[in-house]
Amino acid sequence: MASSSETHEMTARTRELDLLVVGAGFGGIYAVYRARQMGLTVRAYEKADGVGGTWYYNRYPGARCDVESIDYSYDFSDELQQEWVWTEKYAGQAEILAYAEHVVDRFDLGRDIQLSTLITRLDYDDDRCRWNVETNRGELILARWVLLAPGLLSVPKVPPFPGLDAFRGEWHQTSRWPKEPVDFEGKRVAVIGTGSSGIQTIPVIASEAAHLTVFQRTPNFSIPARNRPLTDEERRRVKATYAERRRYAWRSGGGLPRAPAFESAADLEEDELEHELQSRWDIGGLDFLYQIRDFRTNLESNARIAEFVRRKIREVVDDPTVAEMLTPRGYPFGAKRPCFDTNYWATFNRQNVELVDVNASPIVNFTEHGLRTSDRECEFDIIVFALGFDAYTGAILDIDIHGRDGRSLREYWADGARTYLGASVAGFPNLFLIAGPGRPVNAGLMHHEHAVDWAMGLIEHARQNELVEVEARPEAEDEWDRRIEEAAQLTVYPKVKSWYWGANIDGKPRKFLVLLQGFDVYQEIARQEAEQEYRGFTLRTSANAAVMAGT
Ligand code: NAP
Repeated sequence: MASSSETHEMTARTRELDLLVVGAGFGGIYAVYRARQMGLTVRAYEKADGVGGTWYYNRYPGARCDVESIDYSYDFSDELQQEWVWTEKYAGQAEILAYAEHVVDRFDLGRDIQLSTLITRLDYDDDRCRWNVETNRGELILARWVLLAPGLLSVPKVPPFPGLDAFRGEWHQTSRWPKEPVDFEGKRVAVIGTGSSGIQTIPVIASEAAHLTVFQRTPNFSIPARNRPLTDEERRRVKATYAERRRYAWRSGGGLPRAPAFESAADLEEDELEHELQSRWDIGGLDFLYQIRDFRTNLESNARIAEFVRRKIREVVDDPTVAEMLTPRGYPFGAKRPCFDTNYWATFNRQNVELVDVNASPIVNFTEHGLRTSDRECEFDIIVFALGFDAYTGAILDIDIHGRDGRSLREYWADGARTYLGASVAGFPNLFLIAGPGRPVNAGLMHHEHAVDWAMGLIEHARQNELVEVEARPEAEDEWDRRIEEAAQLTVYPKVKSWYWGANIDGKPRKFLVLLQGFDVYQEIARQEAEQEYRGFTLRTSANAAVMAGT
């Protein structure tokens, strides 16, 4: 690799920034707002031709957030949260995208967001303590700080089936859905994948298509969302108490204003548990998920909840064989992220819907008119892939990142991602990760706000102390790695293959990618780190002079 300082001479197409932001989803949008507030020169680069990130791309029919809209929104501006009107309990994709666009307009952030531009390469210039950044449009940007916010679920898993090129019908990925509506009327359709995206889109497609075949590999636990319009009275009540609601969310383990009603299912008699589960099932959504605190750590509690959900499937699905095929077994409830649905199980009672278990009948290859499984040939007009994402690391590693001494992030993470606080990587100074590996499970915009605020706090500390470089220490990373691993082992998460530890992508290192200690715990650790003057970091006043004791 050529030295970055040699190759990156200033030209007419060179721009200098205090802060470069990668991505203009909810993390990137807020970073632009905060940086501007701090008086930094900032610019976000977004590969799509619009802002919104996840909500720009996932336009599939039925796409909806499973965090309540009043909580899946920014907290940084009370005016914003008082003005904006959410129409439904769980907002659909179009409404959330409109919200993202509104925030950009309302705070005039668009002039610092460059769309349709892919960041392709980042090189750290050790001598000048800055990042040299290249785009796919041949631009060069020199930035003191870089904040990566390219999304944790933004790189789709590539359909791995042979022969897809031969297929003459239409095919779509849920996470790359076209802007123009897809017409399913009178069509024979296949959906492959039954995670959160598949489970949301299947009922909608089934109601439009002539025939739908669902290809399922692992049955999933799903909870009815019971979405509905919000009433004026609900909106008024929330707006009157928003500050209190947010305060509660900030202090919570999940980053949402919810506390489990019971410590453990073991505290309840059989009929009490049944009554409690049923009442929360009737409310639906996260109320059911957060009812019993220990469901992710106690297999006995977990088994009782899992059995309740399995029974619900049998109650709804008419055909016992189909009900059994749809019933998740052999892994705990919540070990894969639970889904939230609208009429998912009932969809399999429709005459035009068929379920295929790909374990019994594996997909062999695609053909001109459809696909071939081990035991039959199926014809389709449209095929929909809902196969998930290369989560947490995919979008970061899509960028060719070279840190100190040309160290490649792809090589550094070859055995799995390592970070300190999920915010910084040793050998990659002045670079922050916003929603990458090593953070708590992300439940929405307040997580982004916290990540950005914390990074900005460190940038401010650097400004005040005339630091030119901040860099995570390798020992701090080791300790963080141990914390993540130990926390994961106390839970049910490692008991199933999932994207939480890279197990959904062939060839991806198997390493736990989230900190299962709660948002509240994480915030406290991050607060102490700042209070103790960033002792997990090496801080330098010039390229060679570390200012921290012992460095
Ligand atoms: P996902 O949960 O990873 O589900 C992917 C599905 O594709 C799984 O059923 C998987 O089966 C199947 N699959 C993958 N490769 C396959 C293959 N080669 N053959 C057959 N089946 C295959 O992905 P997702 O549904 O896009 O959801 C990812 C995450 O995005 C969610 O967990 C959630 O965090 C977020 N999300 C949120 C919402 C929401 O807020 N409402 C909506 C959508 C997504 P296996 O299980 O056997 O691997």
